Amino acid sequence: MSKTRSNYFPQACKVIPGGVNSPVRAWKSVGGRPVFVSHAKGSKIFDVSGKEYIDYVLSWGPLILGHAHSKVTADVCNKAKKGTSFGAPTPAETQMAKLISEAIPSMELIRMTSSGTEATMTAIRLARGFTGRDMIAKFDGCYHGHSDSLLIKAGSGVATFGIPGSPGIPADLARLTLSLPYNDIDTLQKAIETYGSRLAAIIVEPVAGNMGVVPPRNGFLDKLRKLTAQYSIVLIFDEVITGFRFTFGGYQNLTEVKPDLTCLGKIIGGGLPVGAIGGRKEIMEKLAPTGDIYQAGTLSGNPLAMSAGLTTLNILKTKKNSFLKLDEKTNRLCKEMQDLFSAKGIAVCINCVYSMFTIFFQTGPVYDLDTAQKSDTMMFARFFHGMLKNGIWLAPSQFEAGFLSFAHTQKDIDKTIDSCSKTLRNL
Ligand SMILES: *Cc1c(COP(=O)(O)O)cnc(C)c1O
Repeated sequence: MSKTRSNYFPQACKVIPGGVNSPVRAWKSVGGRPVFVSHAKGSKIFDVSGKEYIDYVLSWGPLILGHAHSKVTADVCNKAKKGTSFGAPTPAETQMAKLISEAIPSMELIRMTSSGTEATMTAIRLARGFTGRDMIAKFDGCYHGHSDSLLIKAGSGVATFGIPGSPGIPADLARLTLSLPYNDIDTLQKAIETYGSRLAAIIVEPVAGNMGVVPPRNGFLDKLRKLTAQYSIVLIFDEVITGFRFTFGGYQNLTEVKPDLTCLGKIIGGGLPVGAIGGRKEIMEKLAPTGDIYQAGTLSGNPLAMSAGLTTLNILKTKKNSFLKLDEKTNRLCKEMQDLFSAKGIAVCINCVYSMFTIFFQTGPVYDLDTAQKSDTMMFARFFHGMLKNGIWLAPSQFEAGFLSFAHTQKDIDKTIDSCSKTLRNL
C-alpha cells in the first residue's frame, strides 16, 4: 500500500465526520480502512493506487449500464456546456415524466426530486395530506431514506410502534410509524384490522434490498394491496432500487399488484443525484402548485440529472430483452459461488432476485429482518476482505445487495468465481 493511499482516510476524518459522506462507506461493519476510489469504467472500479476491481456495488444500484457509459457521459458533458441549472422548467423534465409514466402506468403524474429520500418523504406527506390521517406503517428491515418518519426501528414484539432509528428523531413522531415484520401476512392482517382506519400509508420495498436481498413471499404484496384498498390506505411502493432494475419499468410491472404511489431514484438518474415520486392523479394533484401540500427543490429536475437519466432509460428501453441475460449471468454467478461454499462446507444462503443478490452467511432461509440477522457477520467480513484482495468489490456489509450491470461480461463472472475460490481457500 502506497503512503498516499494510506493517508487519504485519516485526512478525510479530520474534516468529515467519520471520513465519509454516507455512513456505510466507512466500513465499520467489516473493519479496516475504506479504499479510496480514483475512477471507474464499465464493470471495473479503480482505487487511488491503481488497483482494479470488478464492481458489484455500482454506486449502490444506479449504474445498471456500468460506470462511465460512453453515451451517458457524452450527453452529460454536452449538456453541462449549455448550463447546469436554470430554476425554470426545461423540456427534458417533461420527456422524463413521459418516459417513466409510459414504462410504469400507475405513475400518472410525476414530480422529480434530487434524492430517493426526498421522494419517500414527499410520499408520506402526500399520503397524510390526502387521507387526513397521521399514522403510517413500514416493514422492519426496509430502508426508505433518512427522513424522520421513515428512519424508524422496530421495537420488540411482532407489530410495534416504531422507536426512533436515530437520536434526534422525536419519540412522539416515531410513535406514528407502525413497524411490521416483512413477509408476515398474519401480523399485517391483525395490524390493519386494529389500526387500519388511522393509517395514511403503508410503504414497502416490493423486493427488499436493504437487509440484504429478500424477495416478497407469494401472496404478501397481493394481501397488502387488498387490505390497503379496503381501508383506504395509500399503498406506496418504494422502487428506488427496483425501478428499471428487473425490466423496463418497476417490479410492479412483473406482478398484478399496483400501488397508489411509487418512489424512484438510483437508476433513473444514471449516476447523478435523482429521485421521483408519482402515482394516481387525484393524489399527485394535491401537490403544490395544483394542491396545497408543499414540496420543492432548487435543483429538482436538474438538466444534467435529466440528461444522464433520459439517456440511461432510453438505452434500457432498447435492451428490454437483454434483462433476461443479465438475470442469467447473476444466476450463474450465484450458483457457482454456492457450489464453492458447499464444497468447502461453509453454510451460506444466497438470495438471488433477477440481477440482485446477497450471500447470507448462514443456512437460511432468509425471509425477513430477524432471519437476516442470524447471519455470521464476522465470517462475512473475512470473506469481504478476501474478495477485495482478489480484485472483487463487494458492499462492505452483510446486509446489502450486490448488483450486476450490462457491462459485466462472462469473463468478469469467471474471474469472480475464481477469486471466490481463492478466497475460500483461506477463509
Ligand atoms: C437508496 C434508497 C433510498 C434513498 O435514496 P437516496 O437517493 O439515497 O436518498 C430509498 N429507498 C430505497 C429502497 C433505497 O434503496
